[in-house]
Amino acid sequence: MPDKSLTYDYIIAGAGAAGLSLMCHLLGHPELQSKRILLLDRDAKQKNDRTWCFWQTGESPFESCLKSQWSQLYFHSPKFSALLDISPYRYKMLDSLSFYQHCFSLMKDFPNVEFRQDEIVSLDPEGVITGKQAVYQAQYVFNSVLFQIPKVTGKHYLVQHFKGIFIKTAQPAFNPAEPTLMDFRVAQHQDCRFMYVLPVNAHEALVEYTGFSEAALPQEAYDCEIKQYLRDYLRITEYEITHEEFGIIPMTDAPFSKSISERVVNIGTAGGATKASTGYTFSFIQRQCAAIAQNLAQGKKPLAGSAKTIDKFAFYDSVFLRVLLEKKLASWEIFHSMFSKLPASLILKFLNEETSLWEDLRIMHAMDQQVFLAAAVKQASGK
Ligand SMILES: Cc1cc2nc3c(=O)[nH]c(=O)nc-3n(C[C@H](O)[C@H](O)[C@H](O)COP(=O)(O)OP(=O)(O)OC[C@H]3O[C@@H](n4cnc5c(N)ncnc54)[C@H](O)[C@@H]3O)c2cc1C
Repeated sequence: MPDKSLTYDYIIAGAGAAGLSLMCHLLGHPELQSKRILLLDRDAKQKNDRTWCFWQTGESPFESCLKSQWSQLYFHSPKFSALLDISPYRYKMLDSLSFYQHCFSLMKDFPNVEFRQDEIVSLDPEGVITGKQAVYQAQYVFNSVLFQIPKVTGKHYLVQHFKGIFIKTAQPAFNPAEPTLMDFRVAQHQDCRFMYVLPVNAHEALVEYTGFSEAALPQEAYDCEIKQYLRDYLRITEYEITHEEFGIIPMTDAPFSKSISERVVNIGTAGGATKASTGYTFSFIQRQCAAIAQNLAQGKKPLAGSAKTIDKFAFYDSVFLRVLLEKKLASWEIFHSMFSKLPASLILKFLNEETSLWEDLRIMHAMDQQVFLAAAVKQASGK
């Protein structure tokens, strides 16, 4: 049994993007500001371990942590290159350390909110968490520790794998107003590979090599592709690497459980916030956490009203993963069709799951009808 002093109203298991976002959303409600909240993480969260990008029309609660933001994005394919206006959206970048520091500084204003560094060993449906150092209990546990990716026969599994380097050049080398969302001019290796370049000023940028495939690559492959791209496309041969990051994000339509029990709710990637077709998660985490906090503030259960009878975006994601895996169409052509035929803001709206059915149909009309229709029919019939 947990010590009485280790009993809380809410425990947030995992103080990463979802855990800390949830804490901020909870503390945004006066009704919840006196709740006893424990954040548990095995890590101290004092390192810059990732860069998050997302797009939105308004402002996020983390506006002060932004490193940069843009209103236009380049898209390149072997047949098309354009700098695309994304208004009313803005593409935003924040580094995780600024985000962690912002959240920890908010925590200081609330003596009833505590952070403990401990490794979670198990989590039971009654809201009891066994850590390496102690046992904790709460009325509600919000868990973002991804113990395992669900394995379900018939579902599609890919990973988004990437390596990014922040570089600094002595001479001005970038236009800070012109980031590149996707550059498919790089060799595709019968796969889906692209470069991503986010300049923060004339001398510094994040340059990232990304693949969507069944497995990640050896580390040297990312380094080699980045070096080649810098030389061949950006004409940069001399630079200092100031920071590096590597990531593997699951891209799967296998269902992540929203909860383990009424008392244990999953959040973040563990709670299905990662969009299967893109790997983008940050915006979906904000939506998920805002809804949970709103429900609790109104005295409801955390997941009240979240059940969807039909999730059209989950269906589109499954079709997209199927098309990528079947490889009947070069993946760069899929993105080429979208970005060369449609307004970029509509594509971003669709990927943020904000479009109406009519807007979805407009997107579908721009795609290779034969390939996507065949995949959609197979998906709908469960083949
Ligand atoms: C390098 C990288 C870059 C990314 N960039 C983007 C992006 O640009 N845009 C976007 O939308 N998404 C991005 N993602 C995807 C996604 O947003 C992130 O993975 C995000 O951090 C997910 O949030 P989370 O809270 O679910 O997981 P995390 O942020 O990973 O938080 C989980 C926490 O649980 C802790 N933990 C794990 N196991 C235990 C344990 N046993 N005991 C105690 N604590 C534990 C970890 O230390 C961690 O702090 C990126 C992912 C990576 C890896």
